[in-house]
Amino acid sequence: MANEVNYGEWKLPQLREELKKRGVKVSGRKKELVDRLCGLDNLGRLASQNIEPEFVMDVPEPKAYQDIHAGMSTVVTISQQRLIDYLRSNEKEYDEKVEEMYNERYVRFIRVADGDGKQFLRGCVWAEMRKNVSYDVDVSIDQNGVVQEAQCDCAAGQGPTAHCKHVACILYCVVQFGKCKKIITEVTCTQRLQTFHHAKAYRSSPMKAAKLHDMRGHSFRYDPRPEEYRNQEGYPDHFQNAVINYQASCGTNNKMPVVQLYQPANPHALNFMHDYVMRSDEAFLRKSKVHCNPA
Ligand SMILES: [Zn+2]
Repeated sequence: MANEVNYGEWKLPQLREELKKRGVKVSGRKKELVDRLCGLDNLGRLASQNIEPEFVMDVPEPKAYQDIHAGMSTVVTISQQRLIDYLRSNEKEYDEKVEEMYNERYVRFIRVADGDGKQFLRGCVWAEMRKNVSYDVDVSIDQNGVVQEAQCDCAAGQGPTAHCKHVACILYCVVQFGKCKKIITEVTCTQRLQTFHHAKAYRSSPMKAAKLHDMRGHSFRYDPRPEEYRNQEGYPDHFQNAVINYQASCGTNNKMPVVQLYQPANPHALNFMHDYVMRSDEAFLRKSKVHCNPA
């Protein structure tokens, strides 16, 4: 830049004076003041450059749109050849990627609105690489099925002749809709079966089996029995092996958490189920600090 001022050489009062003149904050260290002035200069330079206004399509009100499946509006049909021609007129070849994206449910939805003798399509397509980003696509088609204008949110989707893969994908949807009267879109959260009861896969570095513990933090070697009955031969090993074998054998197919394998404890059956409870079950529960829910 030819006329760039080197604010670094300025004295602090001089910088403050300049900032005051421009009506911005004057407090801060010298480096901050210099940065602030440079920032203002850059802004001014950008504003003085004549940047062409970005093309924005003139589209109907959002409430005028209806889902493509709603059936109230008759969607203009376009042939596959029209789609290929549109892309070719923008020096882009039609490729199978478009069909792939459509079949892999990259399209979130398509809405349709009529207006101005044209049909407007508003679609939303997931970005190919980053699955948490989606782009809005606007396309207008005339009554003969010729694409008038198109724009897309993505970097390559500058209107009025956007021809990125998202626009192509939306147009491909319309081609499919003409053929089958329905399109496939993403699976929404209510269509997907719930998975909250599935055990989560363990995603961390492996640990020694002996260090495994259950959800309450007890080790699998934890033995709830009174002291004198613990460490009997085979019991903790049996329990640990049962758990580890269960986890190992069911792999990813059986998503049932191991706790669901066991019946809930029945405190009233203590005397029958655990032969080591010599006292009355109530005394045992009291000593073990197990409280009964009064309800
Ligand atoms: Zn795009």
